[in-house]
Parts: sequence; C-alpha cells; structure tokens
Amino acid sequence: MTLAVPNKGRLVEPTLRLLHDAGLVFEERDRSLVSRVENVALDILFVRTSDVVEFVRDAVADLGITGADLLAESEVDLPVVRALGYGRCRLTAAVPSDAGPQRVEDLAGLRVATSHPRATRRWFADRSIPVEVISLSGAVEVAPRLGLAEAIVDLVSTGATLATNGLRSIGDLLPSEAILVGNPAALDARAQDVDRLTTMLGAVLEGRRRKYVMMNAPAGRLGELEALLPGLESPSVIPLAHAGMIAIHAVVGADDVWALLPRLKTAGASGILVLPIEKLIV
Ligand code: AMP
Repeated sequence: MTLAVPNKGRLVEPTLRLLHDAGLVFEERDRSLVSRVENVALDILFVRTSDVVEFVRDAVADLGITGADLLAESEVDLPVVRALGYGRCRLTAAVPSDAGPQRVEDLAGLRVATSHPRATRRWFADRSIPVEVISLSGAVEVAPRLGLAEAIVDLVSTGATLATNGLRSIGDLLPSEAILVGNPAALDARAQDVDRLTTMLGAVLEGRRRKYVMMNAPAGRLGELEALLPGLESPSVIPLAHAGMIAIHAVVGADDVWALLPRLKTAGASGILVLPIEKLIV
C-alpha cells in the first residue's frame, strides 16, 4: 500500500508524529520521495501538500493525507476515510479593518483575492453573491493594500496574521483540518489493509483525546466519585490492602481533567494520577 503525505509545510510535523505514534517504523532522513515502512507493507510517498489529491486520484498512491481545504479546492471527488483532528483552520473572508463590509453578502460587486479560487468561486456562486475572484498564489493578505482587491478569502487559524495585516474577518466559507483520503478502487481492493491502518491511526487520535485517571479513596465514597467519572464505561474499582480503601481507574476526556481533579479531591480521592493514553480502541 502507498500513502502520500506532505513533504513541506505545516502539515508535515503532525502527520509524521501521527504515523510514528501509530507504530509505523520508517526513516525520514531525506523526505525526498519514498520511505519504506519497516514493520508494515506500506510505502510513504513524500509529495507537496497540494499534490496529494492528484496522486491519490491517479492511483499513484492508495491513500493520502492533506488538508480538507485542498480537497475542496481540487474539486476532485475523493472519499474522505477519516478526519485527523490536526491542521485545523478555516477559509475565511476578510476586509481591511476600516472598510465597510460587515457580512460576506456585502462583498457583492467587489473583488476578492484568494489562493483558493475554485472553492471561493463556488461558494459565492452557490449563494448568488456576484464577486470577481482574483487568483493569487501567495501573499493574499496584502492584496487589499496593493489595490488588487477589496477583500480576501484566506486560511486562518488564530486570526493573528489577519490582525497583523490590518484585516478583519467577516465570515467563514469552510472549516478545514487534515484528512485521510483514499483512491476508491484501492479502498475496495485493499479494504483489509486500509482498515488496519485507519484503526491504528484512529486509536492514536482517540487516545490523545483522553487521559487515564487513577486514584485512591474510602470505599464509602465510591458513589460520589463514580458520579464525577462519566468515562468510557464504568470505572474499574480495586480493593486496597487497607480495609475500607479502594483504587478507582477511569478513562476521562483530556479536556475535562482541569475541572475534574479538584472535584475528585473534594469527593475524597487522594493519590490522583493522570496518565497519557498511547492508543485507544473504543
Ligand atoms: P502549507 O504547506 O504549510 O502551506 O500547508 C497548508 C495547509 O495547512 C493548508 O492547506 C491547510 O490545510 C493547513 N493549515 C492549517 N492551519 C493553517 C493556517 N493557519 N494557514 C494556512 N494553512 C493552514
């Protein structure tokens, strides 16, 4: 099986981390072309992020990792095997801070500069908002200052780049994150291998969203503590050598840990440990 992944740019590091965390052993000495995975029958093909969709469409690769925005821009109809939860950003419309438009609809009749011309054109056309799309390959955020357009459509995550360039968002066109796409014929022919890979990637992604919490408590407070722990299933309860004491183990949402720990302590827990989960198959 062949998996195309970005060789440059912001998706490289989280993509390689995901593959390594999933247990794939491979060298990335020179991300020039192909790396053979040592422990799985898989070749990793390093290509430009914006070329991943074409490689998968043309069956040069069976699977690929790229941004959802790039799949939308390519207008190629590839199945998304799963979303990967990183590389989150949004394609947003923005204007200079002191400009008039307040909503995307206010851009009717204006010029919009973007490096996502197809997705942008389609989005405005679907809503019957007439705009002139100016296609730029980079430095989109300076287009209003250069007098090339009144507005831009660009990817943002925090919005800091917009602010630095004196721009203000007036609405989002589409959310994006890294995705795993597949060639339809390959998904059919190699269903079992694809399933094995996606199970492992999924196990890493699920594990990252959760923590393993262990604590000791007086047995009499189990009910109170259990009510605070809406984990995967009911928590494990283990008797301790000290009579009347128990250990409770549970899987909780990583985002909940901050609020949860003080409440566990108040409910009688002590010796509370929070451990990372390497992989989780629910
Ligand atoms: P790069 O190769 O660094 O240009 O990667 C661009 C891809 O990274 C985009 O197509 C998005 O899918 C993703 N991405 C995530 N956050 C951002 C962001 N703030 N700006 C641009 N691209 C982003």
